[in-house]
Amino acid sequence: MKNWIIVGIVFISLIGLVLVQYHYLRAGLLLERSRLDQRIGYVLDEVYLKLARQGAVRDMAMRVMFSEQEPLASPEYLLPEKLEDSIQLLIRSFLAGDSVRMDYAFALTDETGDQTFLKTDNYTSGAENELTYQRKVEGLLSGACGCIPTFHLQIKNTVNYLLGRLAYLVVPSVLFILLLAGCLGLLIYYLNRQQRLDAVKNDFINNLTHELKTPVFSIGMLSRMIRGAVDEGQPEKVLEYASLIEQENRLVKDHVDRVLELATLEGPSYQMEKSPTDLHSLVEEAARALQPQLQSLEGEMVLELDAEDSMLPADRTHLRNVILNLLDNAIKYRNGPPQIHITTRREGRGLILSVADRGIGIPGAHHHKVFEKFYRVPAGDLHEVKGFGLGLSYVQQIVRAHQGHIQLWSRVGEGTRFDIWLPAA
Ligand code: ADP
Repeated sequence: MKNWIIVGIVFISLIGLVLVQYHYLRAGLLLERSRLDQRIGYVLDEVYLKLARQGAVRDMAMRVMFSEQEPLASPEYLLPEKLEDSIQLLIRSFLAGDSVRMDYAFALTDETGDQTFLKTDNYTSGAENELTYQRKVEGLLSGACGCIPTFHLQIKNTVNYLLGRLAYLVVPSVLFILLLAGCLGLLIYYLNRQQRLDAVKNDFINNLTHELKTPVFSIGMLSRMIRGAVDEGQPEKVLEYASLIEQENRLVKDHVDRVLELATLEGPSYQMEKSPTDLHSLVEEAARALQPQLQSLEGEMVLELDAEDSMLPADRTHLRNVILNLLDNAIKYRNGPPQIHITTRREGRGLILSVADRGIGIPGAHHHKVFEKFYRVPAGDLHEVKGFGLGLSYVQQIVRAHQGHIQLWSRVGEGTRFDIWLPAA
């Protein structure tokens, strides 16, 4: 709960940060915009001066304007280009480095814009979404055209240009915000996982405590009964109770061993002891061990051990446990009398051992989770079948330690099949 409050605070802070950054960015853009206005103002002043005062530029402009009535004779037809170049030069000298980053266009028209005396190729008249500055040039030039000549300077990529000027602010801000958002995402992911793990662990502890309570209680009671039998001088009863204690003790040891085994497997120093092993004999051995249980449940087990060569390098004890675990599950999660089908076959450079049952099946959403430690498919509040959710996790670890892999096929109500592939050499 406390962790989620922290996540909430970080989330709100992040949103706050984004808003603050947004406002800074807006303020920065406004500032850059007023700087741009100022600089363009200087440029226009300079262009105005060149066009209004006596000099080569004004003369050229006048000739260009006159040409509206009287076409320019050779070699003067080059005048518009020359005028454009001169103004271009002027603008560049004023904008300096910015002239490269800024995409601009200009034109010289009458005051209504109907008559255009000069314009660059990229100038678009009447463009509304482009930032256009204007400066009227009265004076001698005005007389030349009988109008008020107006100089237009258009900035084509204003937003990009302004953002570019603020790149030193924008780029790190966006990067840091993304980084923070990423960390927040990770935090939520880990918290979720932790929460699930906690729930699963609590389940396991409850389960284990429950499983251990019964034998511990029985052992306590049997010990008292032994004392009574000794007092009454009944040695045969003492022997009977002692063997019952032994049985209960074995149960406790079994539970403890399973937990410990899994813990050791995860240790860095754990080494498999592999030796040439006959998979078929292991399967037969495991099947034999479960036969009495199967018979009492009126189940059946069919073995089709078809792999030609069933030898593989394996840790005998662990591999037998793997098979026993799968068979044990096939019996535990039965749907009526257990029906088990075990097959083997060669595939590639290894062997496939397949254990299939016609039991209750596993819903698709739980397929990948059943291999997680302590995970059990939820079955309401009460699990009819006892277990710790350790079996399949153990199976997967052992299979992986043999450089093999395990696959699960299952449908609710139809059954489950585990395919284990193990390398043969
Ligand atoms: P456990 O059997 O101790 O609960 P496992 O790790 O062996 O733990 O299995 C995890 C879960 O996968 C089980 O709780 C059960 O819900 C499901 N499961 C495993 N094997 C089968 C099977 N053959 N048929 C149906 N469900 C199975």
